[in-house]
Amino acid sequence: MAAAYLEKLNDQQKQAVEHGVSGERGDASRPLLIIAGAGSGKTNTLAHRVAHLIVNGADPRRILLMTFSRRAAAEMARRVERICAKVFGTSGSAMSDALTWAGTFHGIGARLLRIYAEQIGVDPDFTIHDREDSADLMNLARHELGFSKTENRFPTKGTCLSIYSRVVNSETPLDEVLRAFYPWVSEWQAQLRELFAAYVEAKQAQNVLDYDDLLLYWAQMVADPVLAEEIGGRFDHVLVDEYQDTNRLQSSVLLALKPEGRGLTVVGDDAQSIYSFRAATVRNILDFPKSFTPEADVITLDRNYRSTQPILAAANGVIDLARERFTKNLWTDRQSSERPRLLTVADEADQARYIAERVLENRESGMTLKQQAVLFRTSSHSGPLEVELTRRNIPFVKFGGLKFLDSAHVKDLLAILRFSQNPRDRVAGFRTMQMLPGVGPQTAGKILDAIAADPEPLAALAEIPAPPRSGEDWAAFASLMEGLRKGSSGWPAEIGWARQWYEPHLDRIHEDADTRKADLLQLEQIAAGYPSRERFLTELTLDPPDATSDQAGTPLLDEDYLILSTIHSAKGQEWRSVFMLNVVDGCIPSDLGAGSTHELEEERRLLYVGMTRARDSLTLIIPQRFFTGGQHAQGDRHVFASRSRFIPVTLLQFFETGSWPVVGPRATERAGERQVRIDVAARMRSMWK
Ligand code: ATP
Ligand code: MG
Repeated sequence: MAAAYLEKLNDQQKQAVEHGVSGERGDASRPLLIIAGAGSGKTNTLAHRVAHLIVNGADPRRILLMTFSRRAAAEMARRVERICAKVFGTSGSAMSDALTWAGTFHGIGARLLRIYAEQIGVDPDFTIHDREDSADLMNLARHELGFSKTENRFPTKGTCLSIYSRVVNSETPLDEVLRAFYPWVSEWQAQLRELFAAYVEAKQAQNVLDYDDLLLYWAQMVADPVLAEEIGGRFDHVLVDEYQDTNRLQSSVLLALKPEGRGLTVVGDDAQSIYSFRAATVRNILDFPKSFTPEADVITLDRNYRSTQPILAAANGVIDLARERFTKNLWTDRQSSERPRLLTVADEADQARYIAERVLENRESGMTLKQQAVLFRTSSHSGPLEVELTRRNIPFVKFGGLKFLDSAHVKDLLAILRFSQNPRDRVAGFRTMQMLPGVGPQTAGKILDAIAADPEPLAALAEIPAPPRSGEDWAAFASLMEGLRKGSSGWPAEIGWARQWYEPHLDRIHEDADTRKADLLQLEQIAAGYPSRERFLTELTLDPPDATSDQAGTPLLDEDYLILSTIHSAKGQEWRSVFMLNVVDGCIPSDLGAGSTHELEEERRLLYVGMTRARDSLTLIIPQRFFTGGQHAQGDRHVFASRSRFIPVTLLQFFETGSWPVVGPRATERAGERQVRIDVAARMRSMWK
């Protein structure tokens, strides 16, 4: 008889959970692929499988669990904990706490690299560059090689980085990548080769790694048979969620960890593959079974537990027309008479007002804010809504949207910490040095050159005579760096120390220094949630925390708040009610792509991913006048939008502005109804006070 905690699962799910678990050390040996549609319980099944392995004696510290985000990893650990608690009583949490190797591919890569760095000739104090830092470094290399002169129209730093990244992640030669994705820059092939060589050399000299390196170095580690065995030998079980969004490099590190597929389980849905712009390839999931002899076992799930039948029918209607797909249509027994809504409103302001009012109305009828989400194609699309929500005091959290991380003063403080961790990091070094009065790029460059040659660069810094005009500041700076090097004050006190040194600089430069200081305090609060400077810098770079509407910036953990998210970041999640913004052509599908069939198909899957997040209620909104912010050569403008070509109109219920009683300026003319709405909003506001 199956264990009690497996009772709720259907037969296919149970089969996936129990696959190969013999009872002794949870020795699930044969590789397994679970391929199934949205909401069919893939993640849930994976969590049960982890718990089942632990219950059967697997050591949680030897389980590697890779998910799409840190949030997803934490959620998975929570589910495992719940199940373990049922079986073991109170020791359940200890079981899942020991699940220490749960995270993203990049995060896990960074951790393994710190452990094994020296064995592959990398200094373990490496710092990690985010996309912007990487583009800056690429730009430096472009300048040094003289490729950046405007008249020769050499590709921008961003394009150069994208090309480089695609070559690395898809393990495809440069000429092929150019031919397939960047035909208009093919003439620069020789220069690009030279540029990429210089970029790689600069990274090595400075001991910095970009995102791609985390995977590339990992691949290099496991290319060495001895290291591969050692690293692979750390883990008895390796489980991967959202496998459809891994790229070639990720699948090759995975296969190198477990060449025979022992203890390997991957889970995914080809219809939800939405990261091909980062070289993810759905082939990984399709080719998985054939990577082993004998082939991996495959289990499919076809019952959807998430959405009502009309929502699922509409989502299936979108994906049915896809050119190529492998997973079958899903079914559900969650009947409902409510079809998804397709609502046309006048413009984005109208859209924001509509959502705010509906969200409050839902809350009035018992749906918490947390059970509702607003999804959009591009982060900037939520701007008008954020304004409206703030005006009405409706709390919200925007996934991955911690905007203030992009602001100059926050980057400055982070640069100081990064520089102290790795003084060879030139992007951080330039930024830090130029905070000193009288130090410009030239002096900064000279100082950085001088210390880079020293085996103890920060100690060498103290020996350098103060540059003119920065006398006292220099001494304070040198002692800050010395303190950070020794790590004497410990984490998170270090960040407070760096902030205090930095603040007078802010006062000198900015009139709004006080608001900026508040951001820095907020950063310090966030920092306190991480165990060390190194982990803080690594994880902030790889997976920034979510933004909250609360000015104090403390996460609203116990409170209720609405979720705002890009469709990409909403992957794997679900809400009772989902609103999708700007479901218009040009937005989804986006007109930023080159318009190839391939790209269009990915936009179709993106809409499918968004729609399948909804459990009970789904509303797609079409603003008729749509603002395209600076995406076009002619600058900002309004366009008259038409609904997305992917919408299966027969499966939705239509509303126009005005036919939905509460929305928009025209609706406000109906005085009686408007009055009611205002009352509701005011009542809700007073509840949060
Ligand atoms: P996605 O493709 O979006 O990642 P998924 O396949 O991973 O979805 P889950 O998130 O695991 O699906 O599950 C979707 C919902 O269905 C969850 O609310 C989960 O609790 C519920 N669910 C899964 N299996 C069952 C089951 N056997 N009985 C009841 N509810 C279930
Ligand atoms: Mg999932």
